[in-house]
Amino acid sequence: MSEQEEKDKNGPKKSKFNYYWIYGLFILVVLGIQFIPGMTTPGEEINETAFFNNYLKQGKVEKINIVNKDFVEVYLNEKALASETDEAATSAKGPHKKFTILSMDGFRNDLNGQLEANPQNAVKVEMVDRTDWRGGFLSYLLPLIIIVLIWLFIMRRVSGSMGGAGGQIFNIGKSKATLFDKDTSVSVTFNDVAGLEEAKEEVVEIVDFLKHPSKYTALGGKIPKGALLVGPPGTGKTLMAKAMAGEAKVPFFSISGSDFVEMFVGVGASRVRDLFKQAREKAPCIIFIDEIDAIGRARGKGMVQGNDERENTLNQLLVEMDGFSSKKGIIMIAATNRPDVLDSALLRPGRFDRQIVIDRPDIKGREAIFKVHIKPLKVVDDIDIWKLAAQTPGFVGADVANVCNEAALIAARKGKKAITDKDFQDAIDRHIGGLERKSRIISPDEREIIAYHEAGHAICGWYLEHADPLLKVTIVPRGMAGGYAQYIPKERFLYNADELNDQMCMLLGGRVAEDIIFGKVSTGAQNDLERITQMAYGMVSVYGMSEKVGNVSFNDTNGEYNFKKPYSEETSKMIDEEVRSMIKLAYAKTKDLLKDKQSELEMIAKELLKTEILFKSDLERLIGIRPSEMPPQERAAGIGSPKAQTDVDEDIQTNKG
Ligand code: ADP
Ligand code: ZN
Repeated sequence: MSEQEEKDKNGPKKSKFNYYWIYGLFILVVLGIQFIPGMTTPGEEINETAFFNNYLKQGKVEKINIVNKDFVEVYLNEKALASETDEAATSAKGPHKKFTILSMDGFRNDLNGQLEANPQNAVKVEMVDRTDWRGGFLSYLLPLIIIVLIWLFIMRRVSGSMGGAGGQIFNIGKSKATLFDKDTSVSVTFNDVAGLEEAKEEVVEIVDFLKHPSKYTALGGKIPKGALLVGPPGTGKTLMAKAMAGEAKVPFFSISGSDFVEMFVGVGASRVRDLFKQAREKAPCIIFIDEIDAIGRARGKGMVQGNDERENTLNQLLVEMDGFSSKKGIIMIAATNRPDVLDSALLRPGRFDRQIVIDRPDIKGREAIFKVHIKPLKVVDDIDIWKLAAQTPGFVGADVANVCNEAALIAARKGKKAITDKDFQDAIDRHIGGLERKSRIISPDEREIIAYHEAGHAICGWYLEHADPLLKVTIVPRGMAGGYAQYIPKERFLYNADELNDQMCMLLGGRVAEDIIFGKVSTGAQNDLERITQMAYGMVSVYGMSEKVGNVSFNDTNGEYNFKKPYSEETSKMIDEEVRSMIKLAYAKTKDLLKDKQSELEMIAKELLKTEILFKSDLERLIGIRPSEMPPQERAAGIGSPKAQTDVDEDIQTNKG
């Protein structure tokens, strides 16, 4: 491919026109004016005293020009010139000497005195008014230049609002997407992405498609157009998307959602258009949109008038996504921490219909990430990476990367040859200090409470016959939750009272465990209590499971009951009482159970503090097979159950910030 063709292929690049050079030009012109030759008076610079003593009194002066009452140009007579030694001064066309007048009155007196004293020296004196055209030029032009500059600046931004064409003129509508071309920048591979094994498994298919599109399209299969990476900041979403491009050896366009949304109307939409235009030229490729919630928030919510600009951008994005067929090999990857706020249109089939969870790493994940980032560093041999991972609960990949870099800097500052464990300790301490300010870090005390709380849930679920089977329990924080236990709910719609009671006990398990172990309860169980309350009210007032209240159902689906309750004050009181006594009963039952199983509870909590995450098999190893799953009623619970069906009991909130 010739260079010209290459350029043409890069179409938009060719027309990239940077207006900064206009500003530069103006500045050059202004500066240049100062240096235009001939603008300054020639002649040797002397001073007033020298003029009187060396020239005027000696009769060497033929003529002087007093310019602007400011300075004097001196023309010497022929006699003087003959005796002048300085060639340069004498050969000059203009005045031969010049000097600045210190005070006009003083000069006039001195001059008059001299001229009267020596009338034979016929000196021509001329008063000259000379406007320096540069000064005039600048005083008129400078404001003009400034106005033009401001106008240009505004035009650059506003022209985007004229949509496509206007945007082209001043390059506003051009997407800011940075293009990492295939051969150069994207050298990231899956090896650089530590942990996240589940997520990797999910994206290999997309990578394979980008590598061998015909293999899939030949069979008529539909390839996903987009995937949504969901997870908190710094967990490696961008890294993962980049690694996909690197693995597939395709170009990578990356842009942040907030880049689309600028002050002026229409810019976002034209940026989207341009981004896709560039991407189509480079297909197969990956487009990565970071922080998609900046444009993808549900439309028409929140603000009274809605945000037109954002909506236009979002609509344009949807149009473009529908417009390209995935056969072309454009894969959209978006990242967000808030999939719940996204407009449902974005999540529809054919758009970002796949969600890949990129969670905070557990201790094993952090170990793997430490390994990746320590690899390029020069460290002493006896670094205990597991220990580093154990010391950094709550850290995400970006935190780990930061710590490794910081450790290297600390070691360098001390002039060390290799980074030692101490340097890592210092770096971790420093980083934790920063995180504490952002209240993202969990103190050791809190961590212990969370561990016992989660262990309490796990133990209750383990020994209660009707509770859902456990999938995993973890104290890796997630969102506002300090930890969570994940269960596989039975697929069913009907529950009997026993089952609901067991579930209530399981939900209470966290708080009860805190109560037993620490003798006090934390605010962390709020979410649990909300669910229990809801459940108990449901049992009493909706499902007719309370003998006292009877078989009545007051399901407030329309929210009308706020205004008029369909039951008497007495019934209302009764419902409240029933709910309370039901929860009280469940609490007592849970407490009995956990007291009975306290040694198991402590075992699980301690193990959680060590490894942060326990799966069902770990619990079986520690406390034996779950009673209700023992043979002969062996139930193959939880095997091969898809993720979507799991129920997460997200709880023990770290009520900070
Ligand atoms: P996000 O896009 O989720 O906010 P990034 O992908 O930008 O996070 O991550 C920032 C940096 O943190 C990466 O460049 C990388 O150095 C480091 N990092 C994050 N997650 C991982 C990981 N799983 N493995 C290795 N490095 C990681
Ligand atoms: Zn809980």
